[in-house]
Amino acid sequence: MKIWIDVLGCPKNEADSESLEAILVNKGHEIVKDLEDADVAVINTCAFVSDAKKESVDEILDLVNYKNQKDIKVVVHGCLTQRYFKEIRKEIGEIDAILGVVPPLRIAQAIEDLEDFNGPPQPVYEFLGRIIGEKPYAYVKIGDGCDRKCAFCAIPSIKGPLKNRGYDDILEEINFLVRNGKKEIILVSQDSTSYAYKGKNFIDLLKAIDDIEGDFWIRLLYLYPDGVNEDLVMTVANSKKILHYFDIPLQHASAKILKLMRRNPDIESVKRKISFIRSKMPDAIFRTAFIVGFPQEEEADFEELLQFIDEMKFDRVGAFVYSDEEGTESYTLNPKVKKSVARLRFNRLLERQQEISLERNRKLVGMNFKTLVEGFENGMYFGRTYMDAPEIDGLVYISSSKPVKIGSFVNVKVKSFEFYDLEGDLQ
Ligand code: SF4
Repeated sequence: MKIWIDVLGCPKNEADSESLEAILVNKGHEIVKDLEDADVAVINTCAFVSDAKKESVDEILDLVNYKNQKDIKVVVHGCLTQRYFKEIRKEIGEIDAILGVVPPLRIAQAIEDLEDFNGPPQPVYEFLGRIIGEKPYAYVKIGDGCDRKCAFCAIPSIKGPLKNRGYDDILEEINFLVRNGKKEIILVSQDSTSYAYKGKNFIDLLKAIDDIEGDFWIRLLYLYPDGVNEDLVMTVANSKKILHYFDIPLQHASAKILKLMRRNPDIESVKRKISFIRSKMPDAIFRTAFIVGFPQEEEADFEELLQFIDEMKFDRVGAFVYSDEEGTESYTLNPKVKKSVARLRFNRLLERQQEISLERNRKLVGMNFKTLVEGFENGMYFGRTYMDAPEIDGLVYISSSKPVKIGSFVNVKVKSFEFYDLEGDLQ
């Protein structure tokens, strides 16, 4: 069969779908880039917040409409269908197979027999191959699901409790990816620091990955603040390959709101951790994410958040307007913040962060950075330094009079900057 695959949502879905592609190819099927060439269309959906749900539903409806013009089968899986299996089966009868959160091998089977599967979530997979593709980086899922109880979050109810992948299985997958030319391995999970498998913990895993031979970067995403301890910081500081990039979603800075969110309200301990990291790695980059407009957030709470951002000077900040998700604890929490007020706070936060980002980028002019070249467009190469994760952070545009190999590391001297992107000369 000729199969077209669309991936919505987070990097964990990307890892699942690349694994699915390899399984399908091994079974003798062909992956096609163009929907027009496909016999089967597969969508990996997302249901984290309302915008993501809407995007997934729209994509399903587009495909179902397309079915009216062309004889094509449609298979839908992932978080949206795990969360709303019955509703989707009832409302969109044209879908040929619906599955929730299941391993790629199970999806491959459903593509062949076109049967639904409505059972408990099975969020992790065993390594059975990965499609290599053109990107020089790969997400590697070390676990999925979550044991925490953040009041706003639907993930635990969709994906179930945290399930970690086998230690050797992860190492086998990374060895495979590195042998096949990947230059950046990005570890993802809902809660990376909680990794534990048969006596091995996150630190053991990091050290073992660090020892894999090859010239490649290791990037860590989704570090839960409480899990960032001295041991982890020193492992990163002493490592050969782990980037000095800390992605620590903090969600808020007001103790009142953090408490309502069912997260650790001790924001002073976060400040101490960040200073400790900066004392050990002055070049450390910090990415975080905040939710604005959480129920009961008052102007004073939001001001506290802005002050915190001013004080901490994060390099990258993601902001989200609170999404009221049924089944979560905060769904019943009142009063809600008006959408217009939340949107205004969102804009104010981003504006403040843009000033900080500009200031931080200004200091980079004249400095040299190892850069992973990712592509070429409009007469220029582009890539990323250790400071930027794919898809969520900025890029470095590279002026070069000679050809550069996509997927290689080069040295770039920064000459100018914008809010997010840099421009520099090949050295
Ligand atoms: S740690 Fe992350 S995935 Fe887990 S409940 Fe909190 S926000 Fe959701």
